[in-house]
Amino acid sequence: MSPRAYRSAREIAAAVQAGDVAVTDILGQSAAALAEADQGPEPINAFLSVDINRSAGAELRPGPLTGVPVAVKDNIVTIDFPTTCGSRILEGYQSPFDATAVTRLRAAGAVVIGKTNLDEFGMGSSTEFSAYGPTRNPVDRSRVPGGSSGGSAAAVAAGVVPIALGSETGGSVRQPAAFCGVVGIKPTYGRVSRYGLVAYASSLDHIGVVGRTVDDAALGLQVVSGHDPRDSTSALREPPSLEGTGSLEGLVIGVPSEYFPDSLNPGIAANCRAALRLMEDRGAEIREVSLPSTRYAIPAYYIIAPAEASSNLSRYDGVRYGVRPPDVKGATELYERTRALFGPEVKRRIMLGTYALSAGYYDAYYGRAQRVRGLIVRDFDWVFASGVDLIFTPTAPTTAFRLGERLDDPFEMYLSDVFTVTANLAGIPALSLPIGRVDGLPVGGQLMGPRWSEPLLVNAARALERELASDPSFAAAPLVNQETGR
Ligand code: GLN
Repeated sequence: MSPRAYRSAREIAAAVQAGDVAVTDILGQSAAALAEADQGPEPINAFLSVDINRSAGAELRPGPLTGVPVAVKDNIVTIDFPTTCGSRILEGYQSPFDATAVTRLRAAGAVVIGKTNLDEFGMGSSTEFSAYGPTRNPVDRSRVPGGSSGGSAAAVAAGVVPIALGSETGGSVRQPAAFCGVVGIKPTYGRVSRYGLVAYASSLDHIGVVGRTVDDAALGLQVVSGHDPRDSTSALREPPSLEGTGSLEGLVIGVPSEYFPDSLNPGIAANCRAALRLMEDRGAEIREVSLPSTRYAIPAYYIIAPAEASSNLSRYDGVRYGVRPPDVKGATELYERTRALFGPEVKRRIMLGTYALSAGYYDAYYGRAQRVRGLIVRDFDWVFASGVDLIFTPTAPTTAFRLGERLDDPFEMYLSDVFTVTANLAGIPALSLPIGRVDGLPVGGQLMGPRWSEPLLVNAARALERELASDPSFAAAPLVNQETGR
């Protein structure tokens, strides 16, 4: 079998079920891609723990992902791999159970091959804030893969797995997907159980899916969706049907001017305009809309997320969770020495959040940020109520930046999320797909829809992906090299 014979999760599952290929061969392809990714002086370093062979002997369950190798972000717990959240404080931590999303992947026949790198506890936009070394972008190894699900996006982009689980608090699936030239979906809040997702900011946290194609990402999302009594915020809804071929005919696509500022990278703006023209050609109506509260989204997010984080991360005290240093004298020293294991960005967030919640400041910061969140929700509600089906924007204001470039400037790093945090604040589903390249680097286009509109969102993205692939002006800069499949 040629090493690139089976690339999509759907193809792999069908071939394995038909007996056309052995799972060991599929896993062998993953191992070869992984070895190639980690070869040389600039390894991709997408995984924090990985064991492809151990998985090879496991009994196969029949299902939509039979025999499909998948990777899981290392802040989603698994019974067979450690869960570190990219932090020294959880070094070697072994969960006694699987997250619900992982249970569902395995029940669908998927083979979990390992856990992917991330910014510590999901705090960051480049995967450089991992305590275990940065992940590099497979498209250009001098650049970051985005974050915080950079390991998941890089594992998919490097061809190690067709599908990976990520998590999002403010864009951590979509932004790395955009930087690495793959697809990332964040579902509606409540669609996918958060049981077993290590909490960062619970009202904003979501599990999302990275895939090489829209179809694969949708298949992964369908498998992990659905009510879970173990997560009280999980909605009482059946998993959606995300099958379909997709069409743009008759859709009203809203384009918010606030997402196309003058400072936007001109190449990204040009790619977005070209994608919009293509959608219009294929029967969509493009309508300018306004989401005026967008300018307050980053400030509100960077109050709410750290505030919730400062509370959620109090459990790492060396007693309940967290490495317990040897020979400590007394509780104070235990807390101090355990919590010193947090990295600099996590400490910054805890301090910001504790301050925002402190007596006398609560109303001025957290209370106000919550009111801004209400305005952002209302902006989206109005636009969708006015007859707009989906909204189209760039996913990120720049392409992948160089390693180290933003490490000294937290604010610059936070601005990577300017187009993605709004969907987390509003809890609406959103997706990033590759729409072109600038200077050889992938550009992501974002589609956002009303709550529970995943079927529409995914099918519009399928159609756009197909039209982009068949359009000669886009085909001139292929998103996926047809020869190598990379
Ligand atoms: N970059 C954002 C942050 O640091 C978003 C991270 C995420 O979505 N987990 O909070």
